[in-house]
Amino acid sequence: MDQNKALAQLLFPTIDKTPADYEALYPPRDLPEGARVTRFAPSPTGYLHIGGLFGALVDVLTAKVSGGVSYLRIEDTDKKREVVDGVSGITDGMKAFGVKFDEGVTGFGTETGAYGPYTQSQRVEIYQTVAKSLVENGLAYPCFCSADDLNAIREQQEAAGADIRGYFGKWAKCRDLSFEEIEENLRAGKSWVLRFRSDGSPEKRIFFEDLIRGKIEMPENIIDEVLLKSDGIPTYHFAHCCDDHFMRTTHVIRGEEWISSVPKHIALFKACGYKVPKYAHTPQVLKLDDETGDKRKLSKRKDPEAAVSFFVEEGVPKESLTEYLLTLLSSGFEDWRRANPDVPAMDYPFNLKKMSSSGCLFDLVKLNDVSKNVISKFSAARVYADVAAWAQVYDPEFYAVFTADPARATAALNIDRETPKPRKDIAKWSEVKAYLSYFFNEYYTPDLTLPENLSPADAAEICKGCAAAFDLADDKEQWFARIKALCEPLGFTPNVKEYKQDPSAFKGHVGDVSTVIRVALTGRRNTPDLYAIMQLLGEAEIRARLAAAAAAWTNA
Ligand code: GLU
Repeated sequence: MDQNKALAQLLFPTIDKTPADYEALYPPRDLPEGARVTRFAPSPTGYLHIGGLFGALVDVLTAKVSGGVSYLRIEDTDKKREVVDGVSGITDGMKAFGVKFDEGVTGFGTETGAYGPYTQSQRVEIYQTVAKSLVENGLAYPCFCSADDLNAIREQQEAAGADIRGYFGKWAKCRDLSFEEIEENLRAGKSWVLRFRSDGSPEKRIFFEDLIRGKIEMPENIIDEVLLKSDGIPTYHFAHCCDDHFMRTTHVIRGEEWISSVPKHIALFKACGYKVPKYAHTPQVLKLDDETGDKRKLSKRKDPEAAVSFFVEEGVPKESLTEYLLTLLSSGFEDWRRANPDVPAMDYPFNLKKMSSSGCLFDLVKLNDVSKNVISKFSAARVYADVAAWAQVYDPEFYAVFTADPARATAALNIDRETPKPRKDIAKWSEVKAYLSYFFNEYYTPDLTLPENLSPADAAEICKGCAAAFDLADDKEQWFARIKALCEPLGFTPNVKEYKQDPSAFKGHVGDVSTVIRVALTGRRNTPDLYAIMQLLGEAEIRARLAAAAAAWTNA
């Protein structure tokens, strides 16, 4: 038996499969020409960063527009980063924002698709099979260096002023151990890692085309990278190579922090005899630091909005967040949106080439604006259903009040909605309690502050006049005519133009009279259509509020 084969057998006695078995088990996908296979590959930390959702959107859209497949793979080879159920937080966040993969992990312990298992810890036999074949081909070797040995090498490299640090070439102590030495170390029970035997040269450079950044040139990899750790579990680099090959990924889209590893990855794909996938490295999600005013990475520790769960808790609809992320993601999105105002955002013909390679600035104020616009187009029934579902979980007390009379709550939400120019008042469901507070006595704490040009005494008179005049059976025009009729006896004018010509002749105009009534009935100066609000408040409540406001202003 040749010595490499014997070594492979010595290191992996229980592995009896060959890479060919897996080639047969995971055949090339039967997809049309040009179809892209993408994956989102988070570690199961239970935490979905907004940058993760951003990346996942890129994966899903890239696959979708090409008629390909996107899948979710859980990368749990780093046990230090893992939490008990670190998967649901990720899959729930994806579901909440409508990001749906074609295959892969679907929740804690569940998955779908023919290229699984989609969790790396369940694929150890695959990695070891590939590792064994690399040893057979002389492309990998066991390394018995302890942490102290590695430190000593680093110190020697520093002392020698070596340009490149790490385990390679003449520094790689275990690279040329004899079969007998290895056997002896194993017999002595020494722990080992499996290293890649790099044939890279410090003089050579590699080129690759990043689909977002264009052509990139870097020094070739010369490091004998660790492939399997001492517990037989692969490193990220090796698992990436095996998984993206056997899951038949065509496009590896991942964060820009991985660019520097591409030379290693290309070397590994080539050593294994695999086609190198296409790479696209997405920019980071940044924010403007409140204190310094500088751009910085959105931080899990400092920024609540870094977590996707934050938007679930705040009740930001999925359409709003995806709409906003797409404006950040793709320079062509806003033009497309103008031309296609009513098409779902996920139907956007996404193109990686239209992504910016510099960081994307995540701005909550802009998200709010986008969301107000998105929500303004929802039907009242949709808003009612979403608010109810949100409140049931995040504000049960409001849920009880809000859903006590669904028709009334829906009608309240429908004021100035479902019209060609709907109001853009609501950015998220957590705002609805305050937004509708004047419809619910439980939450109504009116602010009766008047605009400066109106006196409390006049306001009290307006309330009294309104109480005497209004009739809920009026249509909107009749109601407005009554307000106009109130003006003159109280020293106001029904005619705004007339007021503008000579303001000193009047206490104010019909708009001021309406404002007083609005403040008396809702505690606000700005609301949707007051006539519609009054219809929902009902006569008794209107009378009570007018009387209360008149009393407050009389005593002011
Ligand atoms: N598991 C890696 C991470 O969480 C994924 C990188 C990749 O997509 O290849 O950063």
